[in-house]
Amino acid sequence: MEDSGDQFDVIVVGAGVMGSSTAYQTAKRGQKTLLLEQFDFLHHRGSSHGESRTIRATYPEDYYYPLVIESYKLWEQAEAQIGYKVYFKAHQFDMGPPDDKFLLAVITNCRKHSIPHEVLNRSQVIEKFSGRFDIPENWLGVSSEFGGVLKPTKAVSMFQTLAFQKGAILKDNMEVIDIKKDEIKGGVLVFTANGEKIWGKKCVVTVGAWLKKLVKTVNGLELPMLPMETNVCYWRIKEGHEAKYAIGSDFPTFASYGDPFIYGTPSLEYPGLIKVAVHGGDPCDPDKRAWGPGVSMDELKQWIEGRFKGIVDSSAPVAKQLCMYSYDAG
Ligand SMILES: Cc1cc2nc3c(=O)[nH]c(=O)nc-3n(C[C@H](O)[C@H](O)[C@H](O)COP(=O)(O)OP(=O)(O)OC[C@H]3O[C@@H](n4cnc5c(N)ncnc54)[C@H](O)[C@@H]3O)c2cc1C
Repeated sequence: MEDSGDQFDVIVVGAGVMGSSTAYQTAKRGQKTLLLEQFDFLHHRGSSHGESRTIRATYPEDYYYPLVIESYKLWEQAEAQIGYKVYFKAHQFDMGPPDDKFLLAVITNCRKHSIPHEVLNRSQVIEKFSGRFDIPENWLGVSSEFGGVLKPTKAVSMFQTLAFQKGAILKDNMEVIDIKKDEIKGGVLVFTANGEKIWGKKCVVTVGAWLKKLVKTVNGLELPMLPMETNVCYWRIKEGHEAKYAIGSDFPTFASYGDPFIYGTPSLEYPGLIKVAVHGGDPCDPDKRAWGPGVSMDELKQWIEGRFKGIVDSSAPVAKQLCMYSYDAG
């Protein structure tokens, strides 16, 4: 194993959105930073590629709220540094059966954190969104201020550029195969598949769906994590209605509680198409993926028909993109 001779304050393993933003933050603080990625930078085999992600403050889990509010500031700061946009403002609309414990927790958290919000019944939903959304008679809707869309591939590229500008060293096609404590001088030794051994004071591991694999190799621990392959679907908005569902109109990012959990974003990346997807998928090995078919379309089609009342064509998605989640199955 060849000792690279280089020494770093921080070695970040994995250059998805988490690792790339970490490398930017540590480099910005004057830490000598190395970012290592196993594949090409901006590859499409992990979780951070694509054109849109929802950002919202209305989670059922209480702990997200302060993190999300802080992150809005950090997104703005990063955008100001780079000089282009990755965040597009929108409101958030959550909906679901009135006894759904996750939707009720969303309402509780809105109240607890004084998030400006409205709890709406069916007729109020139809009125608020001028008929662009409908919900079943007994459902509730929660309209709130803090939603929006982030552009993931563009954001990863932004963080890598900013990290580089702040002096970080970025290396792709560098698979980390082991991480060991340096028993002699402290810190850690990071070993790569192409035979390098690199020393760092600290190592941050942000390897997404590969975490279970890497942790098992490093110390034999079996983490209860479940990588899943999922499908993002885009649907055609019927002619003449496109502008009403576009970002920048008052159409929100949205989440629909119950089974299945469905989410979506206003039309942005592909004009005339709207992203509506099921949160879920098929368990997978990140290195031996099925590459489809992903989630079943029947429930999604029904949901689109019911919520958009024929304004969005529910016969079939016009575009699909595969992606990976990893769940904490503990
Ligand atoms: C379809 C879909 C929709 C989503 N929607 C939302 C949403 O609306 N809102 C939201 O907040 N989140 C959403 N997410 C989740 C969000 O995208 C992920 O949480 C985020 O991208 C995870 O980033 P990451 O950096 O942790 O993982 P990744 O992007 O997977 O990055 C990990 C990186 O580590 C690299 N790596 C792995 N092992 C090694 C190794 N041994 N050595 C070197 N490099 C290694 C990988 O190649 C990869 O590049 C969605 C995810 C998907 C798939």
